[in-house]
Amino acid sequence: MRRTGLCLIFAFGIVPLIQGQQNADQPGALSNEVLKYVRVQASKVILTHVRVIDGTGRAAVDDQNLVIESGKITAIQPGADVAAEKDAKVLDLHGYTVMPGIVGMHNHLFYAARPNLDSQWHGDPPALLPQMTFSAPRLYLAGGVTTMRTTGSVETYTDLNLRREIDAGHLPGPHIDVTGPYLEGSGSYFIQMHELKDADEARQFVDYWADRGVTSFKAYMNITRAELKAAIDEAHKRGIKVTGHLCSVTYREAAELGIDDLEHGFFKNTEFDPGKKPDVCSEGNGKPTLERLAPESAEAKDLINTLVKHHVAVTSTLPVFESGGMPGRPPLRQAMLDALSPQAREAYLYRRQRPPNLQTSGPASGDSTDLIKQDMQLEHAFAMAGGLLLAGPDPTGNGGVVPGFGDQREIELLVEAGFSPVEAIKVATLNGAVYLGKQDQIGSVAVGKNADLVVMKGDPSTKISDVENVEIVFKDGVGYDSEKLLESVRGRYGEY
Ligand SMILES: [Zn+2]
Repeated sequence: MRRTGLCLIFAFGIVPLIQGQQNADQPGALSNEVLKYVRVQASKVILTHVRVIDGTGRAAVDDQNLVIESGKITAIQPGADVAAEKDAKVLDLHGYTVMPGIVGMHNHLFYAARPNLDSQWHGDPPALLPQMTFSAPRLYLAGGVTTMRTTGSVETYTDLNLRREIDAGHLPGPHIDVTGPYLEGSGSYFIQMHELKDADEARQFVDYWADRGVTSFKAYMNITRAELKAAIDEAHKRGIKVTGHLCSVTYREAAELGIDDLEHGFFKNTEFDPGKKPDVCSEGNGKPTLERLAPESAEAKDLINTLVKHHVAVTSTLPVFESGGMPGRPPLRQAMLDALSPQAREAYLYRRQRPPNLQTSGPASGDSTDLIKQDMQLEHAFAMAGGLLLAGPDPTGNGGVVPGFGDQREIELLVEAGFSPVEAIKVATLNGAVYLGKQDQIGSVAVGKNADLVVMKGDPSTKISDVENVEIVFKDGVGYDSEKLLESVRGRYGEY
């Protein structure tokens, strides 16, 4: 034991575990570590001549001036040249667009690894979820995500402490809704998840983690109806919402039990899977049900009505399905490949090139282009019927879905699903804020709201791929340099 202790002291030397903490003595002050990534900070910031996509689904408005003071948006006016003022920073943003910070609703802080994966798509068990405490928050912020839900945690104490360190200004990253450890029943695919034994334990689990500070929960594939019901009731007593990546419990059952949100669009409903037994995940894992739910069918309409009537949100996670099920997609992005560790990059390229006879495995895999298109239509129909559709990338695709880059890709795929660009941006911004009950503070570009904003070159309202051209991300009125954040994690995602 003594030897381990000495090694740790040696390893870290006199470098504090959290760099720059000693420089952030004043409350609210940013540490030197965070200041390295700050491009714009002033008591008053004026963005001039910028196109505004406000996040409400309204059309973009060209040539606006937007004023930020004390972390809030204090004015939005017709574009005009502004003379330099003392203590004010003026940015000329001709040719740029500003939109609300992304509210990422399926944004893990871990990577999905298959140990010793090779070109024949063979790996050794167990599948693992290594924690990405260093790289993921930086990638999210660099990509325009200013608020995120972890949507299931494997290192919950780490996630809680990370939230504290980001909020204190000691580390760069978005605001975080920390989800507790997965509420999972027996027979879990993942060795890192606890398996609940009954409803009583589900209640204890919710109480324990709510007392530690988690602000949301997620049920997983093998939970029973009784455990789910107990967890939902206990969480709701404390004002905390519950989402689920389900299989053992159908969407209809979960809606009737009072769940608040369902992950992965319409992929994980098992209502019509052949041989589905109550409380047990089906062999088909939702695929037969999705195949049957043609958007015009009576079954689909009835399901959508049930979800809307029970105020159940649905989270779209299209990038993880695209990466797993659509050959040759998504288009390779050099900046994304650069973010990956050598091993993660290798795993990703193996995945892209895997022999056609080899199926992917795991809880979010093996879906075909046709099924993904069917899900896209259902997600669009759900939103058109008044359902609250949320967005997140689910970065578990063996390097194919990367924090931040995946959030941008999700917006592009929502456009492919039938949303207009400004509607897709609303799904990824204001809708998440509404779900979190934070729509008065974040989620749209409006006077009085927090200045959580993404500045990008071009015009995503006419060319959605311009959402990739992020240059500055404002969080609470401080403008972070996207490129510098990316540079700091180059080659690290997949490692730590
Ligand atoms: Zn996930």
